[in-house]
Amino acid sequence: MPLKYSWVESANTANHPFPLNNLPYCSFKTPGGKMSCGIGIGDFVLNATALEESALLKISDELLLNEGDWTKVIQRDMHCWTDVRDQVTELLKIDATQKEHVKPLLKPVSEVELHIPFSINEYSDFYSGRNHAENVGRIFRGEGKALPPNWLYMPIGYCGRRSSIVHSTTPIVRPWGQIKHSSSESPVYEPSSRFDFELEMGTIVGRGTPSRVSVKEADELIFGYTLLNDWSARDIQAWEYQPLGPFLSKAVATSLSPWIITKEALEPFRVDAPPREVELFPHLKDNGPMFYDVNLSVDLAADDAPATTITQTNFKEMYFSSAQQIAHLTSSGCSAVAGDLLGSGTISGPNKNERGCLLELTWGGEEPLMLPSGIKRTFLEDGDTVTIRGHAQGDGYRIGFGECTGTIQPAEPAWL
Ligand code: CA
Repeated sequence: MPLKYSWVESANTANHPFPLNNLPYCSFKTPGGKMSCGIGIGDFVLNATALEESALLKISDELLLNEGDWTKVIQRDMHCWTDVRDQVTELLKIDATQKEHVKPLLKPVSEVELHIPFSINEYSDFYSGRNHAENVGRIFRGEGKALPPNWLYMPIGYCGRRSSIVHSTTPIVRPWGQIKHSSSESPVYEPSSRFDFELEMGTIVGRGTPSRVSVKEADELIFGYTLLNDWSARDIQAWEYQPLGPFLSKAVATSLSPWIITKEALEPFRVDAPPREVELFPHLKDNGPMFYDVNLSVDLAADDAPATTITQTNFKEMYFSSAQQIAHLTSSGCSAVAGDLLGSGTISGPNKNERGCLLELTWGGEEPLMLPSGIKRTFLEDGDTVTIRGHAQGDGYRIGFGECTGTIQPAEPAWL
């Protein structure tokens, strides 16, 4: 599929993240204005709430965008999602007849404040990146025992805290926690010194389901994708995770990028599943290409030095797709609800410079990362800024995901 041309000229550039092919959804505010639904097009945000109020966009008999987030649309089904996208494409295409009515509803992205664009219901974080799981296994358990015995059979996950999800750019305060140093028999309570990021993709479940679903049905429930950083305190995690998995080490904060990239925008970028070593159960079996070719990168800005790209990988490195994660999630009778957020699991490529967290990049802290500025890092220091970016590369156009960023703040003083 080639670049679709729009009358919004900035959207017609080959490397622009928001061409007409993309149409990502956001929530935004202008100074003194109310929260509104927005759609990214070129250098602008189109006010979709105003579009609906003025009947240029008609989704339903009732207004769905009047509260300034996309929740009521997310709760509908894929026919509704396609309809919205088709109508907006008509309004923004190069020869749109309504251009003069739509033009006043554009605001420069640089002048708006972006917010999480939907009401998050529940948050589950998976562990479905094979390279990451194997690297972590090797770091903690040594060669030959890389993957846990269950790993190839199901998408391993845990239930996270919805309250821990924060918008991109929210400062991240270094957490306190129980930490057990190898030099001591007992844990101490102190600020984490092995604080890390995790490069992940967030999946937004649209219309939910009260019952078990196939992988194909699960795929139809997915509304879209965002960038996600699952901040992780490795030292707290190492002490607390046995036997029930991570808890506070992952509940510090999870940052979400402000743009939802719809599943439809990513359709041209679907790729096949990786080779399977064990046969998957029928309810988890691959059903066509359900992985995506999306380039991902992480920049680290340490101290006052310029940001450096410390890893580059791809969403297609996943072993289980989001649809398989949803099929697994519902397979014991748990319902999926509109607004559920899934973390993919850390996405690492096979090579050293493709690892999706510092734990892997520095091999458990044993191989510090040397940045071009001469600064050395094992884990994150106060003042460090981590920025995740992503885009799918089409034929003469890009589907950009925007940014997911956060800066580490010093731990608060001891409180008791
Ligand atoms: Ca994670």
